[in-house]
Amino acid sequence: MAEQQQAGHKTVLSGPPTGVDARALDEAVRFTSDLIRIDTTNRGGGDGTERLAAEYVAEQLADAGIEPRILESAPGRANVVARIPGTDPAADALLVHGHLDVVPAEAADWSVPPFSGEIRDGVIWGRGAIDMKNTDAMVLATVRSWVRTGQRPARDIVLAFTADEEDSAAYGAGYLVKQHADLFEGCTEAISESGAYTFHAGEGLRIYPVAAGERGTAWMKLTAHGRAGHGSKVNDENAVSRLAAAVARIGEYRWPVRITDTVRAALTELAAVHGLPADLDDVDALLDRIGPAAAFVRPTVRNSANPTMLDAGYKVNVIPGVAGAFVDGRIVPGGQEEFTSTMDRLTGPHVAWEYYHHEVPLTAPVDAPAYAAMREALEHFDPGAHVVPFCMSGGTDAKQFSRLGITGYGFSPLKLPPGFDYQALFHGVDERVPVDALHFGVRVLDRFMRGAGTAQAPAAAGASGARDGEVGA
Ligand SMILES: [Zn+2]
Repeated sequence: MAEQQQAGHKTVLSGPPTGVDARALDEAVRFTSDLIRIDTTNRGGGDGTERLAAEYVAEQLADAGIEPRILESAPGRANVVARIPGTDPAADALLVHGHLDVVPAEAADWSVPPFSGEIRDGVIWGRGAIDMKNTDAMVLATVRSWVRTGQRPARDIVLAFTADEEDSAAYGAGYLVKQHADLFEGCTEAISESGAYTFHAGEGLRIYPVAAGERGTAWMKLTAHGRAGHGSKVNDENAVSRLAAAVARIGEYRWPVRITDTVRAALTELAAVHGLPADLDDVDALLDRIGPAAAFVRPTVRNSANPTMLDAGYKVNVIPGVAGAFVDGRIVPGGQEEFTSTMDRLTGPHVAWEYYHHEVPLTAPVDAPAYAAMREALEHFDPGAHVVPFCMSGGTDAKQFSRLGITGYGFSPLKLPPGFDYQALFHGVDERVPVDALHFGVRVLDRFMRGAGTAQAPAAAGASGARDGEVGA
């Protein structure tokens, strides 16, 4: 890796080149800060605007000679799409997408104004610093650097900066997929948020979880019907009792372990890292032994269904004829059929259930060349990194792009110092990102997106600490 000296957020590179130039590192920082200052709060239900951020992104692309298209789904709800042609016309295209909207921030709770984009002591503060204006900025800085330095990616790269990810995606990725599918022609794989950050798992162990799947969303409405009547009378068709029994059965149900390919790979790698046998016959026991990293595997080894809301009755001495409840269900890849039949059984004959919101689970192969290239890029810039796949317990825009047959990975590289609680800052107070983390991210993104770590590409000759140009297994 090249030596670097820092003065403020200016970085001077010495030593062998690493792909991007020093200006790209500075731009990643400046763009992050600038984008944070453009308030793109998404309050849901159509209340949000990304237009100014989209214009900012489009300007940076156009300035580098990359032709952007601004696609507005509704007034103020703007997306940006651009295509960078690759050198290999036979290669499938890679989609790189990032959302421009952010969740609300309550200024009174923060140490700095949440839309200040302030850079202090080597850290950029503000809403969107990790979710995910930082990634938008790193991607912009990377592709602009290619133009300046005369480099091109092997694959076509399609860039998409989207609106409305933090709500339904109806004005963003959902709209693009429905109305502008042609812009994504040839894309087979995608990268976006929520993966490839440093997870410190104790004893100097640095794990980089790369998302290779998402659980599905199954929000359900339960309705129990019965015989309405006086609260003092015998009633063996009480809707409240029927609902309560069903809710209790769902809440107490212990879902069986269902290991997907992604989770199997994760457990096998984590067991190896800790020098343990990968005993997949007793996954819960294994999870107990693999330390802090179990936190990102545990929610995804089985389906889940948690009762969250109850709605029944209006007077203490009146038995209502109907009682309702809501349940938050999540489904592992391949687990849909089991989920449906289990819910039928647990709700029983007197309680009906339906989806209130339903999104499919996703899975992405971890034996694919793209995954190997992500691993290689991370290991290249952090020798000693352990790259481990994981399944996201929630969902992202990848669900929308999957409708076009695009396989999505969570790959938004950041090298974070010990004690930096990335998970807590997601949608959290005092969201922030270290400048150094962005520098690392730009280098990794450049290497991966350009296809520089593949066998055909020349190695970064003489780079100390760097591996040769081969793809990691
Ligand atoms: Zn996000």
